[in-house]
Amino acid sequence: RKLGYAVVGLGYYATQQIMPQFKNCEFAKLTALVSGTPEKLTRYGAEYGIPRTHWYDYQSYDRMRDNPDIDIVYVVLPNGLHAEYTIRAARAGKHVMCEKPMATSSDECRAMIAACKAANRKLMIGYRSRFEPYNRLAIDLARSGHVGPTREIVAAHGFPIAPDQWRLDRELSGGGSMMDIGIYSLNAARYLTGEEPTYVSASESTDRSDPRFREVEDRVNWEMAFPSGILASCVSSYSSAHNRYRVTGTKGWIDMEPATSYAGQAMRINRDGTTAPRVLPTPEKNQFTAQLDHLAQCVLTGDTPLVSGEEGLRDLLCIEAIYASAREGRRMEVAAV
Ligand code: NAD
Repeated sequence: RKLGYAVVGLGYYATQQIMPQFKNCEFAKLTALVSGTPEKLTRYGAEYGIPRTHWYDYQSYDRMRDNPDIDIVYVVLPNGLHAEYTIRAARAGKHVMCEKPMATSSDECRAMIAACKAANRKLMIGYRSRFEPYNRLAIDLARSGHVGPTREIVAAHGFPIAPDQWRLDRELSGGGSMMDIGIYSLNAARYLTGEEPTYVSASESTDRSDPRFREVEDRVNWEMAFPSGILASCVSSYSSAHNRYRVTGTKGWIDMEPATSYAGQAMRINRDGTTAPRVLPTPEKNQFTAQLDHLAQCVLTGDTPLVSGEEGLRDLLCIEAIYASAREGRRMEVAAV
């Protein structure tokens, strides 16, 4: 059977990227909507055939408890609201998919994990790249030493941010480019190595006279050292465009650009002096449908999601160490889960 999802927060990512994907899912369907804007409920309710009985706002949210058509709640709100709506969903007896970054602090992440555990509900974070075929291949190739044991990873993510949005409001975002887009460089370095960084060393550069950056940072560059000796150099930017990574081993490199986009990933591999593109067949499920189906399957089988709450927490612990390093001008250890 297909499990029912309630989508919470009918903004760009929910309506333009996620909701259109349910029609291709094998184990998931859209059964409910949550929004504070009645016009959005009317519009998307009609578009997706969701009856009025399955429309909620942020006050009636907890009443999802009484709706057996909702198995999973997908939180697609600004980062500062992830913890509250994840915890309330778990208390209403629902499994939770929560967007990245998991929350605005590691304390919030721990509270979310604890609430889902106490309610015996599953928690997954929306790290869609883990379900994208080129990224999956890059993980296999990097971890199996296809270009020799990995020595360095270089990862860069950024875009010039438009003014006047919640991403620039610290309370709602938890931080600047690092929280929103730099997290892709961080997460990639972690999934390509399969290791947890022991320390980070970071620098920040922000033009505080730019009205976009009154509350949050623009650019952060950082290095991470991993237990096996791998070094990662990462870029996060809200004023320049990047979407790539390179894994360099002793015999060559694996290049991805774009690396974590919604579509169009491109991979090149250099091995023993020869460079060639690697082209994969179009997958049956794209990264979005595979992500939605994965949590539904985990609920059906009892398995733990590939990208659990602990995975989101690990990124937040690294981000806290990166911010502390940039602030204090010294290398910082990453706290343990
Ligand atoms: P958005 O601004 O387009 O949508 C946010 C929605 O939250 C809006 O509909 C807004 O009305 C609603 N909202 C409810 N309470 C609010 C409040 N107090 N203040 C502001 N908005 C409020 O943002 P988005 O780009 O859809 O991002 C939403 C989440 O999805 C973020 O956590 C973001 O990091 C994540 N995201 C993930 C990806 C991905 O590829 N995985 C891509 C984009 C966004």
